[in-house]
Amino acid sequence: MRYFIVAGNWKMNKTVDEAVALVEELNQKLTPELQGEANVIVAPPYVVLPQVISSLWENSNISVAAQNCHQNESGAYTGEVSAQMLKAIEADAVIIGHSERREYFKESNADIAAKVDAAIANELVPIFCCGEVLEERKAGEHFNVIKTQIEESLFHLTEGAFSKVVVAYEPVWAIGTGETATPEQAQEIHAFIRGIIAEQYNQQIADDTSILYGGSCKPGNAKDLFANPDVDGGLIGGASLKADDFIAIVEALKVKS
Ligand code: PEP
Repeated sequence: MRYFIVAGNWKMNKTVDEAVALVEELNQKLTPELQGEANVIVAPPYVVLPQVISSLWENSNISVAAQNCHQNESGAYTGEVSAQMLKAIEADAVIIGHSERREYFKESNADIAAKVDAAIANELVPIFCCGEVLEERKAGEHFNVIKTQIEESLFHLTEGAFSKVVVAYEPVWAIGTGETATPEQAQEIHAFIRGIIAEQYNQQIADDTSILYGGSCKPGNAKDLFANPDVDGGLIGGASLKADDFIAIVEALKVKS
């Protein structure tokens, strides 16, 4: 089933106290009226996940994701956290293949494929990120880049496994830069992504896939982005760190109803 989703990627921000204060504020302010049909997810840093999950334990419609996971279950991987460990603390989802992981931590499409498998095996929703850098867009390579990322990291999945995946299109030139893809640019790529999913699997699976936009999405531009038929919500970085901004973006998703 295709869900409308707003997910906040907090990146390396918020101490435990700050994180708990933010989710408590979100939980209090996010009324059913504002939330509408939106599935709301927050992705705090690993170290604050248990506290955030327990703060949201009761009376909350907010799900919790990690920002990464390791592909192996356990072992000598200093500094890493497995999907199995995330499941054990009752995380719901995990962001995989964020462009910052690809760039700074040299994650390859093959690494990301293995992480997607680990997430699915542990019943975590993989929020799989793809997107081109500025040079690739300028060279007209963006369609090929995105196709290769998706083919090499997702298309080994069976239909059943693929149906668990949420895709986030995040043009790297728009992340944290203040520069946003235009609604037309976002729609063009989202329709392209849905098209290649339909070719690989079938139209029903493509229609059921949630495809989020990420890259300087803010209260002021979210509605225009979300109004596109193939944009099913957003993965939000900077604007997810302030409750009022994040909630305004969630509210913008009402354009779908
Ligand atoms: C992100 O990092 O996933 C992101 C979309 O960041 P920002 O909204 O800050 O561009």
